Amino acid sequence: MFGALVKTYYAKHFNLNPENIVSVSIMPCTAKKFEANRPEMHDSGYRDVDYVLTTRELAIMIKQAGIDFLKLDDRSFDQIMGASTGAGVIFGATGGVMEAALRTAYELVTGREVPFENLNIMPVRGMEGVREASILIENPLPDWSFLEGIELKCAVAHGLVNAKSLMDSIVSGESQYHFIEIMACPGGCLGGGGQPIPTNPEIRRKRALAIYAEDQGMPLRKSHQNPEILKIYSEFLTEPLGEVSHHLLHTHYTPRERF
Ligand code: SF4
Repeated sequence: MFGALVKTYYAKHFNLNPENIVSVSIMPCTAKKFEANRPEMHDSGYRDVDYVLTTRELAIMIKQAGIDFLKLDDRSFDQIMGASTGAGVIFGATGGVMEAALRTAYELVTGREVPFENLNIMPVRGMEGVREASILIENPLPDWSFLEGIELKCAVAHGLVNAKSLMDSIVSGESQYHFIEIMACPGGCLGGGGQPIPTNPEIRRKRALAIYAEDQGMPLRKSHQNPEILKIYSEFLTEPLGEVSHHLLHTHYTPRERF
């Protein structure tokens, strides 16, 4: 998404030729190196992501360059497209994408915050292989009145064995869920193949705690509060699931032979 937007929205904002922009993604994920090469990833009209570095590779480069992070002054990210929220931070933990989406969806539908203390949707957190949560929609806003009394059923799985068991239940028709999050790596992206090694369940647990602590301390914790996201939609994408956002922010997949 960032790659597609940097070569369209960002380029337009600063009157830059997208041909001269090189986008580099820092990722917890070795699979992103493959993904950046996919022919579908040219939504901007150019190669959306030129290079992918894993977090481990970046850390090695920082050490090789002799940069001591603890001695650096804190600085803000460059504008534009530099603002973030706690909802973005928790994407790194299994259940985080689900939690971020629920914080926004529930509030947009009801006009109220999710009914969990401090916005922390605890049932979707943790390291159990498959977790379930449900939220009852009561007194929705008039546009969403047809959702009154609906119990939104969600499931979260991480690791491929757990993903398979959840997907098998969907195929067999047993699944009652409306919304499912699956992360291939144990613990989610915090346990990704490009992350620092070694890793084990205890290290992943600590990474998750750090992520939730970071979220807790951020002034903005819901995606729809991010002023830059609101600006991108009002100035460029126009509306969620509209023509421009659908083209730039979504992709499709091709069936592949079993490896
Ligand atoms: S869960 Fe693993 S494979 Fe999926 S995006 Fe995160 S790091 Fe990559």
